[in-house]
Amino acid sequence: MTSNDSADGRIAQTVRAHVRAQQAYAVPDATGFIKLDAMESPYALPDEVRAEVARAVAAAPLNRYPEGNLSALRALVRQAFGVPAEAGLLFGNGSDELIHLVIQACCEPGDTVLSPWPSFVYFDITARLSHARFVGVPLTAELGLDLPAMLAAIAQHRPKVVFLALPNNPTGGLWRDEDVQAILDAAPGLVVLDEAYQPFAGSTWMPRAADLPNAVVLRTVSKIGLAGLRFGYLAGPAAWTEQIDKVRPPYNLGVLVQAALHAVLPHKPLLDEQAARLRADRGPLAAALAALPGVRVHDSAANFLLVRFSGAKDANAVHLELKTRKILVKNFSSMHPLLSGCLRISIGAPDENAALLAALHDILST
Ligand SMILES: *Cc1c(COP(=O)(O)O)cnc(C)c1O
Repeated sequence: MTSNDSADGRIAQTVRAHVRAQQAYAVPDATGFIKLDAMESPYALPDEVRAEVARAVAAAPLNRYPEGNLSALRALVRQAFGVPAEAGLLFGNGSDELIHLVIQACCEPGDTVLSPWPSFVYFDITARLSHARFVGVPLTAELGLDLPAMLAAIAQHRPKVVFLALPNNPTGGLWRDEDVQAILDAAPGLVVLDEAYQPFAGSTWMPRAADLPNAVVLRTVSKIGLAGLRFGYLAGPAAWTEQIDKVRPPYNLGVLVQAALHAVLPHKPLLDEQAARLRADRGPLAAALAALPGVRVHDSAANFLLVRFSGAKDANAVHLELKTRKILVKNFSSMHPLLSGCLRISIGAPDENAALLAALHDILST
């Protein structure tokens, strides 16, 4: 008997059935690829800023645990991202961690977490891992928010937590303020306004983060050029953030991340400029894609496009052929019936977008 055989038996008796049945979150090896699959910024920081990061990191006290209250970092984040002075502010190892903390703070086993669907898969994964029930309320056929269905589902399931990705991932749509307000009014628990793609959308709930009685605003720096850092923040009425803070692991933000933020955040206008470039390239890229045969592009307020392929070649074929041409995009065609035929494509640098268009042109005309 090998040690693997004996491990298998114990694992079957020990690891949760739900976890055993689950696939690990797959991150493909992207070496040598044009990477348009994960909504990262294609733009690196300029050398001067990288040098400042290097100096800050070199000076970080690695022998010490991170300091407790992080007041200097708090002030910097408030100022860089317009977090109201009265709002409570929590930091996470990526906003993924904050999603986890919200659910852990709010949900007893069997409680409901609800979101329009399809949306960010991590809402569902995290809810189930926390022994909560996940209810996804289908979008309309046009991938819009189905407000009557949302209100009916909220009345029926009384969710502890509602997640609204604004704009929505992977569809790119942005829900109207009055629809979001109707959900806030109807929700019996907490509503998380996940603004991961806000820098590409223009509108935000952040100025009201301290005032909404049952909502918090979740943000990340991952989509604006700092995905490697792993840093997210959550702002909301202090009474809410104090509760959520209780389930946060004590030192969840390492000193290296903090040092890098101190060096980078004073250069926030530079990140804004990079985001503005991606936003400006979105319309022309969408139009060029939509001109290809059998291709439909859904409206996007984010730094990616959801593209539907209904010509001779289906999305799976296109996805594979792009891969053989060293271009990585994300295949959503079998995630949900509403996404059949869909690939999600991040907006890249101009040369990457041009390479994508040339490749698709080729693929779809043969
Ligand atoms: C990418 C993404 C996040 C996660 O961001 P991290 O800060 O990198 O963990 C959260 N919400 C949505 C909707 C996203 O698309």
